Amino acid sequence: MEKKNIDWSNLGFGYVKTDYRFVSDFKDGKWDEGKLTEDDKVVINECAGVLQYAQTVFEGMKAYTTQDGRIVTFRPDLNASRMADSARRLEMPVFPEERFIDAVVQTVKANAAYVPPYGSGATLYIRPYMFGSNPVIGVKPADEYQFRVFTTPVGPYFKGGVKPLTIRVSDFDRAAPHGTGHIKAGLNYAMSLHAIVDAHNQGFDENMYLDAGTRTKVEETGGANFLFVTKDGKVVTPKSDSILPSITRRSLMYVAKEYLGLEAEEREVYFDEVKDFAECGLCGTAAVISPVGKIIDHGKEICFPSGMNTMGPVTQKLYDTLTGIQMGRLEAPEGWLKIIE
Ligand SMILES: *Cc1c(COP(=O)(O)O)cnc(C)c1O
Repeated sequence: MEKKNIDWSNLGFGYVKTDYRFVSDFKDGKWDEGKLTEDDKVVINECAGVLQYAQTVFEGMKAYTTQDGRIVTFRPDLNASRMADSARRLEMPVFPEERFIDAVVQTVKANAAYVPPYGSGATLYIRPYMFGSNPVIGVKPADEYQFRVFTTPVGPYFKGGVKPLTIRVSDFDRAAPHGTGHIKAGLNYAMSLHAIVDAHNQGFDENMYLDAGTRTKVEETGGANFLFVTKDGKVVTPKSDSILPSITRRSLMYVAKEYLGLEAEEREVYFDEVKDFAECGLCGTAAVISPVGKIIDHGKEICFPSGMNTMGPVTQKLYDTLTGIQMGRLEAPEGWLKIIE
């Protein structure tokens, strides 16, 4: 198959229209069979539930070309089940998990010409999402929904080399106790926009959110989970009901234990202990892991020994191992790679 004429290694992270997207509608209590379409426009009523009361959830995943030239996605079953959890929390009908995976496969296959070649560092980002589509003015769940999947090629995350991040402890909260922090919903992002714009204006790359109840425990950033490494080489990630369960983070914890023989622990992490860690990283689909060099808590600096120029050694090993699995250079655990073609 002929690839599109795109300068893969200079792509950023932005929307590029690709040829096909998948659409399925929910009406009269059931999903239709869905189809691929070239039409990139969504037409909904001015009073659609999503526009009035933000009834929408999404997923984010990637398709890669492996070393031996296959197109794969990474653990799409976990995205399917997470989207089902998100939908249930917002009183939306679940798009069946098997059908979610099939829709992703169909959409990537139809846009195979946009899957960047192996070695370019670029990937095809996949965005499944659904929203309430019929008019809703009295507050209640919509009766009709649309599920869609589109794709967009995105460039290498660490273009121009790895730059450890400087993050600040935020005075804004991301998620209420017993709220919606654990689901992937646009509403969590809408309320984080002010905090991130403000952080950028003050010269920080990201916000570290603490638990809203006590402001003593580390939660996550706006769109990535934390991983820490202790001075004696143990991998630690915060545990909380209001953190979004990152698939990258869960995979890295497995890799730490099963591939690297490290101890790996999910537990409550008090902000007071952060100064004692040797390494810190942010994990999510976009970057796999971005190293954090510095955390600023109201003028007080925590500088990790890994510094501002490189990833810490354990972070680097975790990164190399997981990307090795994703790109087919290392053997993947059973079921982690879904081969598309
Ligand atoms: C999507 C997301 C992540 C990262 O999850 P992955 O499955 O690893 O991509 C982390 N935090 C939040 C708030 C997210 O929305």
